[in-house]
Amino acid sequence: MSDHERSATPPVQQAHCPACHRTVRPTPILWGLPLPEGMEAAERGEVILGGCLVSPFDPSHVCPACRTRLYETPDGDFEVWVAAWSIPGSAQDRGTLPH
Ligand SMILES: [Zn+2]
Repeated sequence: MSDHERSATPPVQQAHCPACHRTVRPTPILWGLPLPEGMEAAERGEVILGGCLVSPFDPSHVCPACRTRLYETPDGDFEVWVAAWSIPGSAQDRGTLPH
């Protein structure tokens, strides 16, 4: 028989943060509807609730040291997440542009 199936969130392994270059345990972001257990975990600081926004390219983790949003690559590494999508004409995006 094999190990029993894990239904809980698997532990996040230590990883190298590409932003602050520390060895950290990135905090997973829970996307979608916050379940009661997810909210409890968020209160304990184990996860971060990302809300219901779902885009094709979301950050999956947050560095607990520098709060940089990260995403996990297929190789299991972490990269700095940058918004790959933007809304043309967004008032917020234009807030800092010189006029
Ligand atoms: Zn970091």
